[in-house]
Amino acid sequence: MFDRNFFVVAPNFHGATILSRLLNAHSDIVSLGDTYPSRIFDQICGCGKYVSQCPFWLDISSSISSERYSQEAALLPRYPPILGFGGDSLMYNELPAFLLKKLLKQEHLNLYSDDYQRFLQAVHRHHAYKQPHVFVDGVKSISRVQALKLAGVPISGVIHITRSPYDFVKSSEKQGQSAYKAAIGYRTYHRMASRMQGKIPYIRVSYEELATSTNQTLEQLFTFMDVPVTKLDELRENFGEAWHFMGNASLLKFDGTMRLSKYEIDESTKKKIIRLSGKQPPSVYSHSYKDIGSS
Ligand SMILES: [Zn+2]
Repeated sequence: MFDRNFFVVAPNFHGATILSRLLNAHSDIVSLGDTYPSRIFDQICGCGKYVSQCPFWLDISSSISSERYSQEAALLPRYPPILGFGGDSLMYNELPAFLLKKLLKQEHLNLYSDDYQRFLQAVHRHHAYKQPHVFVDGVKSISRVQALKLAGVPISGVIHITRSPYDFVKSSEKQGQSAYKAAIGYRTYHRMASRMQGKIPYIRVSYEELATSTNQTLEQLFTFMDVPVTKLDELRENFGEAWHFMGNASLLKFDGTMRLSKYEIDESTKKKIIRLSGKQPPSVYSHSYKDIGSS
């Protein structure tokens, strides 16, 4: 079984799947991109098959009797219900632990913890060939980390990914969201994620640093996770192994090259985005975006 579980927290479009690709190539780590397959549509697994046809996910689903949760949006529930509707996520984020404990039913917490442990066991069994010690969970939900902690699941640490807000806002816009909403969402998410610092072992990694100083950033991460430091060149050798990840299928062709930015953004739009998205973590400022256009 895994000795340690780490949790990635980041909004969408922050390079979390790329990070997962790098981490999963480490001999001591398993990481499956977004981790839980969606139930809203039949996702394509990293192996190229639909989740409904993938032997890995079929076995995981049956090992954890996931048919009990056919009403959920993903393989397993995100957190045990408090009120059972939309406000639950906010309550997990805002209420102190003692109050949440009063509101939650112990039997729900126990079931939630048991389900997660069964999931981890099933995933570990499939990776017996590499005898991994560490699982990096990529569900990216801050409320879920709080819920797991309340349920008594050991949290070895969180990996908070930051990224310049420009690409995030532009990519969200492309998916039909308003730039305003995306920028505010960015601000809220990073503020909440930063608040985990001091309560849970925490490391902040910027996508820009990962892209430009990959080996240095990986060294910090592997040291944080207490696994042997491994360089990108060595990780790249394992990219060919079967990887049943959830996420952007274009990563199947990922060769370790990371681009800083996809979009050309004019200065006045940048200013607007900065104002709305709030003060960014300082590491984001360490690179200039001026000369980086879409290639
Ligand atoms: Zn698969």
